[in-house]
Amino acid sequence: MNEKNIFIVRCGEAALKGQNKAYFEKMLVERLRKLIKRRFDDVEVRRQGGLIFVRADKAIEPDELIKEMSKVFGIASISPAVEAASDIGTIGEAAANYMKDIMEKTDIRTFKVDAKRADKTFPLKSPEIARTVGAYVLKGCKTLKVDVHEPDVYLFIDVREKVSYIYRQKIPGFGGLPLGTNGKGMVLLSGGIDSPVAMWMMAKRGMSIEAVHFHSFPYTSQRAREKVEELASIVAVYCSRFRMHVVNILPIQEAIAADCPEDEMTILVRRFMMRIAERVAKENGCGMLITGESLGQVASQTAEAITVTDEATDMPVMRPLIAMDKVDIMSIAKEIGTFEKSIEPYEDCCTVFLPKHPVTKPKIEKIKRSEGKLDVEGLIEKVMGDKETVDIFPK
Ligand code: ATP
Ligand code: MG
Repeated sequence: MNEKNIFIVRCGEAALKGQNKAYFEKMLVERLRKLIKRRFDDVEVRRQGGLIFVRADKAIEPDELIKEMSKVFGIASISPAVEAASDIGTIGEAAANYMKDIMEKTDIRTFKVDAKRADKTFPLKSPEIARTVGAYVLKGCKTLKVDVHEPDVYLFIDVREKVSYIYRQKIPGFGGLPLGTNGKGMVLLSGGIDSPVAMWMMAKRGMSIEAVHFHSFPYTSQRAREKVEELASIVAVYCSRFRMHVVNILPIQEAIAADCPEDEMTILVRRFMMRIAERVAKENGCGMLITGESLGQVASQTAEAITVTDEATDMPVMRPLIAMDKVDIMSIAKEIGTFEKSIEPYEDCCTVFLPKHPVTKPKIEKIKRSEGKLDVEGLIEKVMGDKETVDIFPK
């Protein structure tokens, strides 16, 4: 019966959504199929009885497949399993063989059976299933003992109609919600550590993503821009292929440098970024902006600076990292694979005109006075006119 490797995939929160359950599960299955297909042939993904079953050719390395599957948002856990016809004798034999296999690979002495039955018409109740299967295992694996308190192995038995499942691990996924189930946001994506993490976190909650990136070519190099595209393609593994809008903000920086106080450069540029991002968002059906700002991290992210930045746009701005420490942001970056790319030393548009002493407590009235010296609308139109759009594919 087990000519394929079988994996049980559990939906996380998606399973809690009442009437939407089927919809969320379908979206998850779709994402799972798409992601698996990138790397593997001969894998079947099927929804059944509130679970998702993945059947893969034996030639596919299970760990590799699990690694790929766990990049799909909405998955609570994954269990490599074996199946047996739903008859207590068959289940017992299969469980004993399953434990024999484990004993050949690892040194285990004790186990505990944890049984449940989704099929309430099954003639035995859960505790009886556990006792009976336990007896089969003890008979088949002479050196094993039962330990109900601290077993080396929990042997899970999931009895269902026709076919039952035996497994020992629940490998946690990222959780979250399936991609595409929660609107669409425009992330302001730099080449730094934070914004890719912010993007990933919003996508984890089911949000579809587009990105806008600002550069100051020729002050920033072609290589710096390529780095951002490479970074984006790492995040695209999780949040699917997406569009990135690339805007040269240099004319705005030059206008500010010519007409406004030097110490206001950063905050003024950030307000322009928000305005431009809002326009690009509206043109592309995005209802929110997303940034990688974190309270107090740098001068442009003090409470006052964030308030003044926020004032430039009417769109809701999601700042998923706002209350996170840098070390925690960095550990997510490492986990999702963006960190190494982010720390490659390429210049960013914000560093090109970095003031020596940026204002840390900007006042909105004063900032607006400075903006009064600029042709805000004209400048935005100018840079928008030269905007490029690139498709980012998963790496
Ligand atoms: P990051 O690591 O994301 O670059 P940061 O700590 O360097 O963030 P800032 O440079 O103050 O912080 O930028 C704050 C946020 O503004 C970024 O997280 C990003 O969302 C946005 N941002 C900054 N620079 C750019 C850029 N060149 N293009 C697009 N968005 C940008
Ligand atoms: Mg940055």
